[in-house]
Amino acid sequence: MAATMQMNKQATRQAAQQGRVAPFKATGVVRKVAQLPSSTFSGVTVPQRQFAISGARSVSRAVQSVFAVKDGAVLEGRKLRVAVIGGGPSGACAAETLAKGGVETFLLERKLDNCKPCGGAIPLCMVEEFDLPMEIIDRRVTKMKMISPSNREVDVGKTLSETEWIGMCRREVFDDYLRNRAQKLGANIVNGLFMRSEQQSSDGPFTIHYNSYEDGSKMGKPASIEVDMIIGADGANSRIAKEIDAGEYDYAIAFQERIRIPDDKMKYYENLAEMYVGDDVSPDFYGWVFPKYDHVAVGTGTVVNKTAIKQYQQATRDRSKVKTEGGKIIRVEAHPIPEHPRPKRCKGRVALVGDAAGYVTKCSGEGIYFAAKSGRMAAEAIVEGSANGTKMCGEDAIRVYLDKWDNKYWTTYKVLDILQKVFYRSNPAREAFVELCEDSYVQKMTFDSYLYKTVVPGNPLDDVKLLVRTVSSILRSNALRSVNSKSVNVSFGSKANEERVMAA
Ligand SMILES: Cc1cc2nc3c(=O)[nH]c(=O)nc-3n(C[C@H](O)[C@H](O)[C@H](O)COP(=O)(O)OP(=O)(O)OC[C@H]3O[C@@H](n4cnc5c(N)ncnc54)[C@H](O)[C@@H]3O)c2cc1C
Repeated sequence: MAATMQMNKQATRQAAQQGRVAPFKATGVVRKVAQLPSSTFSGVTVPQRQFAISGARSVSRAVQSVFAVKDGAVLEGRKLRVAVIGGGPSGACAAETLAKGGVETFLLERKLDNCKPCGGAIPLCMVEEFDLPMEIIDRRVTKMKMISPSNREVDVGKTLSETEWIGMCRREVFDDYLRNRAQKLGANIVNGLFMRSEQQSSDGPFTIHYNSYEDGSKMGKPASIEVDMIIGADGANSRIAKEIDAGEYDYAIAFQERIRIPDDKMKYYENLAEMYVGDDVSPDFYGWVFPKYDHVAVGTGTVVNKTAIKQYQQATRDRSKVKTEGGKIIRVEAHPIPEHPRPKRCKGRVALVGDAAGYVTKCSGEGIYFAAKSGRMAAEAIVEGSANGTKMCGEDAIRVYLDKWDNKYWTTYKVLDILQKVFYRSNPAREAFVELCEDSYVQKMTFDSYLYKTVVPGNPLDDVKLLVRTVSSILRSNALRSVNSKSVNVSFGSKANEERVMAA
């Protein structure tokens, strides 16, 4: 970095000596703009500033020169500089890949001990693909219970082999590990709250304005850094998405309580997760009990009736009551979950990844893997487009990432979207869904696609059988719905459940 600054200083000095530097005044600061014969860049000197790097190292940037550079131009004496805003899985994985690829990387995170409200479930393939150590995975879930509106329980997981499981992690541990790894590979971790960015021209650098917490102050001190590109990894409420006018999107609100339950009850959830479906727990999602490190997370979500989220949470707690009774609530949290990708995920040299881009799958509400993967894919495209940080790059490189992403995952998002629409729309449909989950072939296909994130080719004969079963389940659920609308009695188990189902 020091070498970069030195070279930049020299370049500006040379430009000034050759009479190519013209004064330029901006926001009370005298700046100089180089009028170079080459169309590829114009240089500016910016005032001295300080920025701090995680670990209390503080770097002083004396007069620094930056240039507007066209995409593809070779960067003289410095590396491409990228700011990643947000240090969750998407940001940390983007920063790691950028730093490894030779890009000067700044990862800005407002809260380094952030404990993102999250179930913390990750697919098995993520462990190998992202080289995750086992000590950051608290539990291995090998059994799941799907629980229908009438409390019919179906055990899912019987097709799993001994080496197959779903990982459960604490996000404060998980995210911290990924950020530290990025730092070891050369990323600068900056503890600060991103406020806004400015770009003088479409080929020019960005000034990132943020509140620095590096000195431990709660209020933060205004600070800024200058970069060539931005990756917005700042989650569902992304400020970067707002800045590039990425468009609104539907979101679910997810509510979760962390409950410390007695040891004997915790034993039950040792390697078991539960999913409850029913109009009582959510009109369009599911309620869950996930085992965490030394407690369980009980939660639910909804898009269509957000104001009733507490009522759905109460119902989820009620339905799991026998198993969580005597527990102490240790944390209550709520957070939006994006429902679909943003209309726009890139503008010029700014890219969105993870929740900021809207990459959570419907039906399952899974986002950790997709966040990490999108961060990595965006960064890989930038590393490649910039020839390991030696050339300027921009929208073309970002579009490579977006095209690859859409080709790889568009079908996954669509299929899960359709499944959610078909099976979560009414209690009879949910009963049919749970019934379908009993089938070993359905379990295998579902687990394989979740654990390995690939659509595993099935057996054609079993596929046909599955199709027939699915259609008949749906028809049956439709029949139950019309019977229901004619007010004819249908039994769904207990009286209470029957009343609840019939009320749907
Ligand atoms: C209740 C709940 C349960 C969930 N359960 C699961 C689950 O079990 N499995 C699963 O796969 N997914 C789950 N998800 C989804 C998952 O949490 C997200 O998809 C995932 O966290 C997205 O990662 P990300 O890095 O894109 O964003 P985030 O994890 O949201 O990270 C964004 C980061 O940016 C930082 N930040 C935000 N604004 C700024 C700013 N202005 N300046 C600096 N830093 C900023 C934040 O502090 C945060 O660290 C759940 C979500 C919720 C709400």
